[in-house]
Amino acid sequence: MLKKYLITPGPVSVPEQVLLDMARPMIHHRTPEFEEIFKEARNGLKKVFKTEQEPLILASSGTGAMESAVINTLNQGDKVLVINGGKFGERWIKICQAYGINAESVTIEWGRSVNPADVKAFLDKNPDTKAVFVQGSETSSTVYHPVKELAAITKDMPETLLIVDGITSAGVHDTRFDEWGIDILITGSQKAFMLPPGLAFITLSQKAWNMVEKSTLPKFYFNLKTELKNQLKNTTAWTAGVSLIIGLKTVLSMMEKEGIDNVFKRHSINAEATRAAVKALGLKLLAQDIPSNAATGCFLPENIDGKAFVKYLRDKCGVSIAGGQDHLAGKILRISHLGYHDAFDTITAVSAIEMGLKKFGADIEFGKGVAAAQSVLMGEMPSI
Ligand SMILES: *Cc1c(COP(=O)(O)O)cnc(C)c1O
Repeated sequence: MLKKYLITPGPVSVPEQVLLDMARPMIHHRTPEFEEIFKEARNGLKKVFKTEQEPLILASSGTGAMESAVINTLNQGDKVLVINGGKFGERWIKICQAYGINAESVTIEWGRSVNPADVKAFLDKNPDTKAVFVQGSETSSTVYHPVKELAAITKDMPETLLIVDGITSAGVHDTRFDEWGIDILITGSQKAFMLPPGLAFITLSQKAWNMVEKSTLPKFYFNLKTELKNQLKNTTAWTAGVSLIIGLKTVLSMMEKEGIDNVFKRHSINAEATRAAVKALGLKLLAQDIPSNAATGCFLPENIDGKAFVKYLRDKCGVSIAGGQDHLAGKILRISHLGYHDAFDTITAVSAIEMGLKKFGADIEFGKGVAAAQSVLMGEMPSI
């Protein structure tokens, strides 16, 4: 038997109740029944993002919403600033370049968080910058970028948007869209929202909607004005991702029942426990400034082939954790804390890593990582 544990930073495992709800017979999307579900989903998303604005629900992966942010607010030749500290920062640059946008970047080493002062310095020198693009959590380097501090810089610049890929930060780290002054926030279904891939959410501030009025880049499927018009009436412009939206409604009610701030706390404690565990095992953390609570990245001992290690745990032991991308391929592990993940998932991941390392010849004392994780998680054990 091979029991499977999906502990990767997206896709993540889906709660049983959500799977069952999504398996119900198909309903039509232009019906009062669907509109009622859609309305609940819209309202639930507002609570997660702490906003009075409209989170739009798109049928696409997260990248579709990233592209829609660019094409709905900008114009050809615009100057923008991309915070590039990993794979997903690079994606912002590629999308901008595909549409003839002049993307400058603050390049940071994988593992470092951006220093807001560097962004401020760039904007002081380039006040004509139309947007600052960032990842709330850069999943490839497992760091958190200080979104609140960045928003404090762009908030008072009427023609400069802060566009946040929050695909692994919203629903993980407390993200206050209205209070902080974020202009665009993007997320996807297959990370903190513990759904299968296929939905993306995008929320725009009034300042962003003002820029939409002036944007002339080509758009059709991802025309957000068309979406807003429809979604305010609890329907989508095109055929909705009906089953996923039904699942979303269940996920949001689970999050509300847990309490959204408790959801953030759960991610934080599992991340902290994992960091304690890998340190106890003598593995170096990848994140140097502010670690993301979506996933913990750590270096493997140098003599271990990380690709073979990840493959062994996945194919032979049933435990999927992620390896590294690009120059970190084969060198690091990325252990997810996203979504439907609790203390015992953390223990499973840490214990599998300990046993795997031993199998690969590392000098590991059994239980050291597990004990370190347990000490942290004990703080959140329910009372008897
Ligand atoms: C997973 C992820 C994406 C992914 O987008 P998809 O199009 O859904 O694959 C984008 N940004 C970040 C930070 C991610 O973690």
